Amino acid sequence: MLSLFNTLTKSQDEVTPIEPGLVKMYTCGPTVYRDAHIGNLRSYLLADWIRRILEVQGLKINHIKNITDVGHMRQEVLERGEDKVIAAALAEGKTPAEIADFYTRRFLRDEGELNIIRAMEFPKATDHIKEMVEIVVRLVENGYAYEVEGNVYFEISKFPDYGKLSGNLADADLLEAVRVEADPLKRDPRDFTLWKKAEPGRDLKWPSPWGDGFPGWHIECSAMSIKYLGKTFDIHTGGVDNIFPHHEGEMAQSEGYTQKPVVSLWTHGQHLLADGVKMSKSMGNSFILPDIEAQSIDPLAFRYLCLTARYSTRLNFTFSSLKAAQRGLLRLQNRAWEWSELPNNGDGDGEHLEDWKTRFLELANDNLNLPSALALTWEMVRSDMPGRTKLRILGEFDKVLGLSFDDVPERFRVPDEIAAMAESRLQLRKQGKYAEADAVRDDLDGAGFVVYDTKNGIRLRPKTDWEKQQEEWVSYSSSAEVPSLVNEPDEKELTIGIVACNYEDDVKRIVKSSLAWVGDRSAELVVVDNGSSDGTARWLEEAAREDSRIRVYHTDHVLGEGAAKNIVLKQSRGKTVVLLDTSVEVTGDIYGPIIDTLDDESAGITGPFGLRTDDLHHFHEGEGESGDMDAMQAYCFAFRRKRLADIGLTREVFRFYRNLDLDFSFHFKDKGLRIVANTSLPVTLHEHRVWSGLAEGERDELSRKNYRRFLDKWGDRTDLLVSNQTGV
Ligand code: AMP
Ligand code: ZN
Repeated sequence: MLSLFNTLTKSQDEVTPIEPGLVKMYTCGPTVYRDAHIGNLRSYLLADWIRRILEVQGLKINHIKNITDVGHMRQEVLERGEDKVIAAALAEGKTPAEIADFYTRRFLRDEGELNIIRAMEFPKATDHIKEMVEIVVRLVENGYAYEVEGNVYFEISKFPDYGKLSGNLADADLLEAVRVEADPLKRDPRDFTLWKKAEPGRDLKWPSPWGDGFPGWHIECSAMSIKYLGKTFDIHTGGVDNIFPHHEGEMAQSEGYTQKPVVSLWTHGQHLLADGVKMSKSMGNSFILPDIEAQSIDPLAFRYLCLTARYSTRLNFTFSSLKAAQRGLLRLQNRAWEWSELPNNGDGDGEHLEDWKTRFLELANDNLNLPSALALTWEMVRSDMPGRTKLRILGEFDKVLGLSFDDVPERFRVPDEIAAMAESRLQLRKQGKYAEADAVRDDLDGAGFVVYDTKNGIRLRPKTDWEKQQEEWVSYSSSAEVPSLVNEPDEKELTIGIVACNYEDDVKRIVKSSLAWVGDRSAELVVVDNGSSDGTARWLEEAAREDSRIRVYHTDHVLGEGAAKNIVLKQSRGKTVVLLDTSVEVTGDIYGPIIDTLDDESAGITGPFGLRTDDLHHFHEGEGESGDMDAMQAYCFAFRRKRLADIGLTREVFRFYRNLDLDFSFHFKDKGLRIVANTSLPVTLHEHRVWSGLAEGERDELSRKNYRRFLDKWGDRTDLLVSNQTGV
């Protein structure tokens, strides 16, 4: 039987249902005032795999997944600046319930795409205020909670087991975690809120014995788990960030209410990371399922990817690894399809089947060792059993894996007229008309079908979205995949370098206006389409077809600004490189004056928007002055390409564009090169949409982080500043 690592006992415990034959499982579900990111989805896949493993072993499951709806605004909403999203929706006249409904539907769609089996119920927090109040009343009666001025708090010191789940036993740790909500009304700062008095003007509030208010964060899960699963149940799942304070609080509440242990087994999934840190909206490193689908990657490839790492280990998400998973999945689908077309001549393989199933379940039962179960799947696929046997075994494995192999024949079915074309090709070949047969093959290919010739004739299936996308253009997942031409000789006088991400009209404006003033100089325009999801990518492809000076590099997701710029730099072949932002419009010949300035070998960078600083803390624009500066802003940033050999590329830790220009400027200064502003360069600045598209909180956060990166490297280099050098 399945055993899982139990966060409570710190050991691997077997699932032994309290009610024989029926496992009751509660999963901390989504917060529906935003989309679930794929990290969240990883934690729902965990619950899905637990469920499937139990079900194939004959157990019934009652699986409950709650919906944390907007009624329940958590403190973190305010901290993440997400209240703006909600505020905007409310301003549009949407009700909180409509917002919650919208995101709930999107969540259920995502789960469906990932082939996650539906929970029996998706109870909503706001539908269970009554049950929450009931528990709080009882907690006060039982002496675990106290009321102060319309607020009710759980009193930690009355519950000796508090801290047992998370191991946060030392007071100092707890203080650390509750620091943010220091509240003078609490008897002990570690006490947590069960019910909060509504502040004046608050819309979302409910009546209670303590007056109008709203529930604390943890109480909803106590209320809904007990209501739907009873006072004891078997498994509770969530992500590791739920352990404290959420589940620690939930356990204290539930047990304070029932006066006995409620959950037998607490299972927590490790995080999905991106760029090495936890994926979260606030870090700006989150992706949602539609981001994956926008790259024509099958959502099930994400499911496959999650199978490659145990739930208890962190998994660093990259589009490269996702594409590898997509290729693996497609290979398995191809095999399943191939076997499904073989004649079915009975069984006789029951023995094999039981054998393989036993081996598979042993792995799955061992704390969900699905990476090994997937490896076993491949071993089975590569074995020399008959195809039909392998298909049957794969079908059994897939009850756990959940990769939908039984859908493959349907997915790969071709329309009759296409099948007829393939048949005609076969006839042509038989008649020795190979050229004509090849022409039919090309037609089939063009119509979006893959053709395989086999010794038994022809097999054909529609190309997957992924395969069609691969044919259209190459997409890079990182700058490391793009070769560097930095040490190659110059081929042009000028490289215009642009990083574009959406805002198609802005991209058109900079591409057209920058080329309009090139004159008869030999020039190239190198543009990185950085994961655009609007029409930008397609427009750039067309532009490149019409004007051979334009070269486009696509990325399969939005790379950090440093990485995207580095693709431009690596692929440039012009003697002079002019980097332009998409908010810029070129209104006259900027190139002549730029080249003149850079002809002076002491000049490293030139452009119209210089910055000066006296202390590295305040950078101010040169007040319309030309001349020596401490940094050049990225809007228009020009230098000689030969410098790159010495200076290197930009630092890719700068994911956000802000202050990357300061950092890159200082690399030039460090090599003794001057930064020369020329305010007369004819350019116009338009709205900078990357900036204006961000919420204020996000901008500040991202800017601050980048500024730190800059300071960490250059903070003690005031010797480089113009103000210090002119004095000498
Ligand atoms: P939330 O919508 O924030 O309540 O999160 C829903 C679920 O996703 C919770 O179980 C979290 O623990 C889990 N979760 C949040 N971030 C991640 C992540 N980066 N990787 C895996 N699970 C996560
Ligand atoms: Zn919960």
